[in-house]
Amino acid sequence: MARIVMKFGGTSVADLDRIKNVARHVKREVDAGHEVAVVVSAMSGKTNELVGWVQNMPKVVGANSPFYDAREYDAVVASGEQVTAGLLAIALQAMDINARSWQGWQIAIRTDNAHGAARIQEIDGADIVNRMGEGQVAVIAGFQGIGPDNRIATLGRGGSDTSAVAVAAALKADRCDIYTDVDGVYTTDPRIVPQARRLKKIAFEEMLEMASLGAKVLQVRSVELAMVHKVRTFVRSSFEDPDAPGMGDFLNPPGTLICDEDEIVEQEVVTGIAYAKDEAQISLRRLADRPGVSAAIFGPLAESHINVDMIVQNISEDGSKTDMTFTVPSGDVDKAIKVLGENKEKIGYDVVQNESGLVKVSVIGIGMRSHAGVAATAFKALADKGINIKAITTSEIKISILIDGPYAELAVRTLHSCYGLDKN
Ligand code: ADP
Ligand code: ASP
Ligand code: MG
Repeated sequence: MARIVMKFGGTSVADLDRIKNVARHVKREVDAGHEVAVVVSAMSGKTNELVGWVQNMPKVVGANSPFYDAREYDAVVASGEQVTAGLLAIALQAMDINARSWQGWQIAIRTDNAHGAARIQEIDGADIVNRMGEGQVAVIAGFQGIGPDNRIATLGRGGSDTSAVAVAAALKADRCDIYTDVDGVYTTDPRIVPQARRLKKIAFEEMLEMASLGAKVLQVRSVELAMVHKVRTFVRSSFEDPDAPGMGDFLNPPGTLICDEDEIVEQEVVTGIAYAKDEAQISLRRLADRPGVSAAIFGPLAESHINVDMIVQNISEDGSKTDMTFTVPSGDVDKAIKVLGENKEKIGYDVVQNESGLVKVSVIGIGMRSHAGVAATAFKALADKGINIKAITTSEIKISILIDGPYAELAVRTLHSCYGLDKN
């Protein structure tokens, strides 16, 4: 007998029939004698709808400012998960399984105060562990916890993955299964590259890079928690028949295991390709090349919570002037330009230019640490397709390349095949 946390994403609980199907997956594990806690997302599309309502409310009232109280945003958007948790508990009870729903505050899942992007700080698993011992299934609303102000806090988009891994760590579960609409982690998004291959295993570090560089199959924070707390995490499909052969295999379930790199026997040089849309590039032209100029630019941007990513600096021939180019999420461009304008005197630049609708494609693999020439292969492959590179950043295990938006899919496919990742 083991203890398992099962997480079901939005498409897996999209309607009542899908919730019934989820209940059958849960029943399979309960019938096998395991202790089970379930974490659910809102029905797919629901959170977007709730976010839309919140954003429209000030406009409908005719407010001067589009801003709203982040605590009330959380009160609204957390409601989607409350619905699915209750519905799944009802479905399980109807199948004669002892089950009850839990909201974040009831457990309690304690978070920090960052409403809308809160981090989990502590989970008291005692009550749930006791009840699991008595055969009760806990159905937990994902994406939400309770802040130090005693108010509902949400964990950022995709945050139910993080709820699941954090609950698994708190309950000392033997496994955390993330059920979604694909049957594992692929070498790249299988929806844009049909030749993508499913990975049997992927190292924590690689999954962390894939997630932070745009592969939304897992929220970044969930991978960090799985790595730190050594939670055995699988990504697998809820769309397969719950009772198909092998689905209940405890040691070797179908799907992708996220694990330590030493568990991976045949490590490829490149493991996967990720992409992030909606990047924007901002260039400051003819800056004085003096100590403190970077601090003068990026300090105020950081204070305004603008996430700067790639940074490129060019020095003019005589070394007196420099151009600084960097990327931010497209949604932050206006705010960034405003902040730069307010600090124009202090920074001392001539003009600011910007371009939105760019895409960052990234090549990821632990094997890069010990192989030379990986980047050169990417540059040549993109050049052969006539794709212009606007910026590059690298780390030990990844190369990120900024390109024009319309080339995104071509670039992902090109990189995927140039490293031999296409399935035969
Ligand atoms: P859920 O609602 O279950 O949380 P998400 O939509 O958040 O599901 O994540 C699953 C989606 O992630 C898949 O439908 C797939 O299109 C996308 N995805 C992106 N990159 C990858 C990848 N490398 N492997 C698998 N899926 C990926
Ligand atoms: N429902 C939330 C979202 O759409 C959380 C999640 O699905 O993981 O972001
Ligand atoms: Mg998700």
